[in-house]
Amino acid sequence: MNSHAEWQSELAQAFRSSHELQSYLGWELPELSKYPLLVPQKLAAHLKQLGPTSPLAKQFLPNERELDDDGLVDPIGDQVHAQSKQLIHRYHNRALLIPTTVCPVNCRYCFRKNELTGSEVFAQDQSMTLNYLAAHPEIEEVIFTGGDPLVLSDEKLSHWLAKLATIDHIRFIRFHSRVPVILPSRLTDDFKSVLESFAERFKFLMVVHTNHVSEWTPEAVESVKKFTPRGLTWLSQSVLLKDINDDQQELCKLFRFLASLNVRPYYLHHPDQVRGGMHFWLSLKEGRKIWATLRDRLPGWMLPEYVIDIPQGHGKVQAFNPESLDFSGTLLSRKGLPVTLSDEATRL
Ligand SMILES: *Cc1c(COP(=O)(O)O)cnc(C)c1O
Ligand code: SF4
Repeated sequence: MNSHAEWQSELAQAFRSSHELQSYLGWELPELSKYPLLVPQKLAAHLKQLGPTSPLAKQFLPNERELDDDGLVDPIGDQVHAQSKQLIHRYHNRALLIPTTVCPVNCRYCFRKNELTGSEVFAQDQSMTLNYLAAHPEIEEVIFTGGDPLVLSDEKLSHWLAKLATIDHIRFIRFHSRVPVILPSRLTDDFKSVLESFAERFKFLMVVHTNHVSEWTPEAVESVKKFTPRGLTWLSQSVLLKDINDDQQELCKLFRFLASLNVRPYYLHHPDQVRGGMHFWLSLKEGRKIWATLRDRLPGWMLPEYVIDIPQGHGKVQAFNPESLDFSGTLLSRKGLPVTLSDEATRL
């Protein structure tokens, strides 16, 4: 195995300064100090091609409105359910594992944008995490998220998988990642072999995070088509984003395209009310209107579930209300109970 793979050099050489990116692109970027910038070079080349007002530029380049101070710092209330810094056990049979807070890119709409520092790895938390998982036989699935779990080396991922394989009740391993689109060279044959070496032990799910067809370069398309380890299922998750994909035609295009890659659309997230990302936000009524028209255009297997994370740790629930497009002021929690939100979280 290469000690330093191509994708690792690509990540190391990413643009991290707006001055350098600005002179490469040839157009001006706002000077922001609050949120860091991270754009890999191949993405920058793609951005340059598509231009400063493209859906791609809006997702990955800084915007003055990030300095507005409305929105919530921890919009989905992750801290309420954190078992350690690394593990979030909110749902009975599955838990989120955050092995790293590093990402391959900084998405400007990210719901963790006020929490991600980009450098923590929580190595000290690993034994706490494994003890917790071992002590909770109801947990069948571990969901690697972050940050982005696929920025970890093959060695680190194998190490995690080997440890998790010793806990009998864990049967499913899921990855949530933006890497297949942003850093497709990461989907190497070596990584495929790592997953295949656990194929008898785990069922794997790879959930690619993608919001717009224009994100997909020929390299990303080819890498995803080729990355078919035995026993792995491809799914997708997208975030509904104002002025990017809040449009029936764009979403249809995206989901059809994913289906053509053998990726089953899984979730469409209603945007969270995140501080610094409120310019991407739209109301639940607007979101419902768009989603309702998709049902007519796409077969059920191409239609993702439309979900919303209720603020303050109430979790993910269906965002579509078949009775009414209007938001009634209450959402039903996973337990079927009406949720009363605090004042700052009620703007839905
Ligand atoms: C979304 C989420 C999951 C995964 O939920 P699924 O319905 O299995 O996709 C697990 N834990 C947390 C905290 C989540 O937010
Ligand atoms: S890759 Fe995911 S966690 Fe990282 S910045 Fe983008 S949305 Fe946020």
